[in-house]
Amino acid sequence: MQSLAVLVRRPVLSPTRIASGRVGILSSHFSVAPRAMAPISTETDLLVLGGGSGGLGAARTASAKYGIKSMIIESKRLGGTCVNVGCVPKKITFNAASIAETLHHAKAYGFNLQETAPFDWSSFKKKRDAYIVRLNGIYERNLANDKVEYVHGWGRLLSRNSVEVTLDDGTKTVVNAKKIVVAVGGQPAAPPQIPGAELGINSDGFFDIETLPKRVALVGAGYIAVEFAGMFNALGVETHLFIRGDTFLRHFDPMVQEVVTKEYERLGVKVHKQSAATKVEKDANGKLTINYKEGESEGVVESVDHLIWAIGRTPLTRNIGLEEAGVKLDARGFVVVDKYQNSSVDNIYALGDVSGEVELTPVALAAGRKLSARLFGGEELKNLHLDYTNIPSVVFAHPEVGSIGLTEPEAAEKYGRENLKIYKTSFTAMYYAMMELDQKGPTSYKLICLGPEEKVIGLHILGLGSGEMLQGFGVAIKMGATKADFDSCVAIHPTSAEELVTLK
Ligand SMILES: Cc1cc2nc3c(=O)[nH]c(=O)nc-3n(C[C@H](O)[C@H](O)[C@H](O)COP(=O)(O)OP(=O)(O)OC[C@H]3O[C@@H](n4cnc5c(N)ncnc54)[C@H](O)[C@@H]3O)c2cc1C
Repeated sequence: MQSLAVLVRRPVLSPTRIASGRVGILSSHFSVAPRAMAPISTETDLLVLGGGSGGLGAARTASAKYGIKSMIIESKRLGGTCVNVGCVPKKITFNAASIAETLHHAKAYGFNLQETAPFDWSSFKKKRDAYIVRLNGIYERNLANDKVEYVHGWGRLLSRNSVEVTLDDGTKTVVNAKKIVVAVGGQPAAPPQIPGAELGINSDGFFDIETLPKRVALVGAGYIAVEFAGMFNALGVETHLFIRGDTFLRHFDPMVQEVVTKEYERLGVKVHKQSAATKVEKDANGKLTINYKEGESEGVVESVDHLIWAIGRTPLTRNIGLEEAGVKLDARGFVVVDKYQNSSVDNIYALGDVSGEVELTPVALAAGRKLSARLFGGEELKNLHLDYTNIPSVVFAHPEVGSIGLTEPEAAEKYGRENLKIYKTSFTAMYYAMMELDQKGPTSYKLICLGPEEKVIGLHILGLGSGEMLQGFGVAIKMGATKADFDSCVAIHPTSAEELVTLK
């Protein structure tokens, strides 16, 4: 048998492409040096399509923990959306934006800063890209250590037990696999069909922006649009956010929607409510003009450096042989799975963003690990599956938002308002004590409790540090904590989080 080192297939990245930051957006952005390719295995126990969070979780668990012969096929860059064009570069950019905010606040604490220090976006971006390339390498080494055969190529199902892999040099190999996991993730949804829509970019393109823009426009009310808008604004970019309703983050509790939308307006984001872009044009200087409707009126934003469509994501499940192999997709293209990640075809499983349940990295990763444990971990694990209830999620907005469990309207619909007790508080965090009124951000918390025992079925927080704060409260809620349990925990003073264990 060939050594694993020989079997590993690696994308060959042209340095110019890395520098341009466009790698990882489209597979065509890989520059592949012509070279002889060693043959890949044609038989495997587990074949995983997609080297993102979910696929890596499944393949590494199968091989490292259970000694299963597994292969992972990835067409772009290891780590998938999260590592390359999602969570990781996003959070690094959020950190930069948070530092800008801190610099802005520093004066109130006695630091003699005249203004927010200028931000060198270009150098920042180069360092961020380099960090991601390092991560790609770490992921590849992890696969080698775990004895997963990594193949860089494009996979397409031929049947329930075979996949055609097109390698970088164009050669095709058929791999027979006892079990197949589909973890191909998603892509940004196409923009609406309005004139000039193609002049905009999507969330992948956000990570290609080379210089700090002066003016940007974003369309969308989901967390990606809101996070990007908050970061641009904090970094001093004039930011226009077009939303269809009166608030954004529409899947979150109304408290979150209302307070954060208002805060964005206070911070200077130009939130265009009940609006829709109608036409985009490019002027002689390469800047964009965005024509839009806002309620009954019409408007124009000129000299826009970037327009970003962030209007949802669609699964990458078309044209990869799924339907031909009999795998059922729903109307939006998500693979229909049961709670065990079984698709409609025996021995084909799907997880992560393609199954459309909760589109978050740790969800995909946990689903992948649990699936492999169930399939290969023996009799006692045969019923293992991911519990999709009470999954905490955070929006890296300004301020941060954390949420777990049901929103107030969801809880009222499920249990009846008369069975709920809602605890709420809004206050000014002590961090702002040294600041003028116009620098003070909001903090709001809400607990939704059910029945006489007041089981906590929803927790929604916004304010400084909410992201880090949520994880621990998430454990309590997952364990079925009641309001009395919260109250029995002695407060940590002075923090904002203490308010959650002293709610009246
Ligand atoms: C801007 C942005 C910010 C985000 N921020 C967060 C965050 O803060 N926290 C969080 O938890 N989640 C975040 N997410 C969501 C998170 O990135 C996804 O939920 C997660 O990556 C899903 O993992 P996955 O394995 O299902 O798919 P992916 O990570 O998308 O991986 C799928 C992989 O399959 C490959 N592939 C597709 N088709 C084929 C094929 N036919 N053959 C071979 N390979 C193929 C793709 O190239 C890709 O690498 C963010 C997403 C975006 C876009």
